[in-house]
Amino acid sequence: MSRKTAVVIGAGFGGLALAIRLQAAGVATTLVEKRDKPGGRAYVYEDQGFVFDAGPTVITDPSALEELFAAAGRRLSDYVELLPVSPFYRLAWEDGFSFDYANDQAELDRQIAAKSPADVAGYRRFLAYSEAVFEEGYLKLGAVPFLSFRDMVRAGPALARLQAWRSVYGIVSSFIADEQLRQAFSFHSLLVGGNPFATSSIYALIHALERRWGVWFPRGGTGALVSGMVRLFEDLGGTVRLNAEVERIEVAGARVTGIACRDGWRCEADAVASNADVVHTYARLLGGTERGRREGKRLAAKRHSMSLFVVYFGLKRHRPELQHHTVLFGPRYKALINDIFRRETLADDFSLYLHSPCATDPSLAPAGAGSYYVLAPVPHLGTAQVDWETEAPRYRDRILDYVERRCMPGLREDLVTVRCFTPHDFRDELNAHLGSAFSLEPILTQSAWFRPHNRDDALPNLYVVGAGTHPGAGLPGVVGSAKATAGLMIADLGHAAQAGAA
Ligand SMILES: Cc1cc2nc3c(=O)[nH]c(=O)nc-3n(C[C@H](O)[C@H](O)[C@H](O)COP(=O)(O)OP(=O)(O)OC[C@H]3O[C@@H](n4cnc5c(N)ncnc54)[C@H](O)[C@@H]3O)c2cc1C
Repeated sequence: MSRKTAVVIGAGFGGLALAIRLQAAGVATTLVEKRDKPGGRAYVYEDQGFVFDAGPTVITDPSALEELFAAAGRRLSDYVELLPVSPFYRLAWEDGFSFDYANDQAELDRQIAAKSPADVAGYRRFLAYSEAVFEEGYLKLGAVPFLSFRDMVRAGPALARLQAWRSVYGIVSSFIADEQLRQAFSFHSLLVGGNPFATSSIYALIHALERRWGVWFPRGGTGALVSGMVRLFEDLGGTVRLNAEVERIEVAGARVTGIACRDGWRCEADAVASNADVVHTYARLLGGTERGRREGKRLAAKRHSMSLFVVYFGLKRHRPELQHHTVLFGPRYKALINDIFRRETLADDFSLYLHSPCATDPSLAPAGAGSYYVLAPVPHLGTAQVDWETEAPRYRDRILDYVERRCMPGLREDLVTVRCFTPHDFRDELNAHLGSAFSLEPILTQSAWFRPHNRDDALPNLYVVGAGTHPGAGLPGVVGSAKATAGLMIADLGHAAQAGAA
């Protein structure tokens, strides 16, 4: 009996995790990536000795990564070292209030009591709520495929009990009275593309997830985790093909038969999984089929997460006073978020996330220097018609001026290198629909069964994995989606093998 084969399109964390699981299960797997490096949103830029992780920096749930490596018979720690980050984040407001969100109950209580004594008890109740959602929404359902509506109905009572129809901000506000503390405990859904005022309160589970397993950063940066996963995949015998943009998923009858790349390279396979953007997968890669056109249109009409504008910059001097992760809240919270998700023009103000990885690993910049990135959530290309070619330098300067004023005096004088990633880059580099940074918006009516299913409903050997599928964006999400997808593929290919042998 010949060995089963699979192609995975896209080497984001979801594609990599899926490819590892397939290869470890004995499926000969080829991972095909458009760009010159793997990682997807976790691409790495290097310039003059500065190393910039392009995307994910807050690594949570290391147990999911450990489990992935264990499924391949290896140990995560033999491939990458995870360093603890504390505090998890420094949250800072324009009026001078700042809050160090750490995994230390006494320290949290002390800071909450200093700001709003009545909220100490409220925070404890919020934490208990968050832990309950975490049990139901993450531990039980985070890595299972929602293929039928029955799966959704089964989850219904738990969702109802946990008031999943409420928003993250709404649920936090039911426990906590102080407005800045409400922001401190509700902004997390933005990390996975969710509007705290619209995203289901299920996403409040991120708080418990961070409290349970901490926040980590790989030595050498997030890129070192990508490299470790690529090395594991290749150690297992898997094949990675870079600079290979897939143009078409080939279909014969009701089955997919392989892929064709822009440069003419083709690969046949028993199964194909796409880690590329879900709209791109259906509308473009399957655009020659009725199924692709219909599903692509349906998905394009859904609500998509906001985009991001990211400025990567290297400074002559490292700023040791900065924490690894800082959130700089601007003058408006709800109104700004509303603008990001709804307004047709760019807002004048911003709230920013500032990454200072040398706080944990100084090797990411030349001696004494510092690598940084700052990101601003911005509307996606379907919401706001911004000409990013002309706007980008202006917006970059406004952001750097603001950061300089808020927390990095002398930033401009110390600047050695700077580059930006705009919504156009999300669209053109990553094939992200509307330049969305996180794919389909994680609202209740686009969650679980309502997201694209890991196995296509019409083409039984086509699969999708990654941020556009259940449970959604973020590393734990896409690693969970890879586990769910691998389970289906391995079972299906196993069945196929038995049928072939019979
Ligand atoms: C700036 C930023 C910061 C973030 N911070 C965090 C964080 O701190 N913590 C966290 O957990 N999450 C974070 N996220 C979210 C997280 O990075 C993503 O949700 C996750 O990495 C997406 O993984 P994915 O598997 O869906 O694939 P992606 O990373 O989207 O990769 C998809 C891959 O498919 C490739 N591709 C597309 N089309 C084709 C084609 N036709 N042929 C071949 N290849 C193709 C792309 O080039 C890409 O490499 C952040 C995201 C961004 C953008």
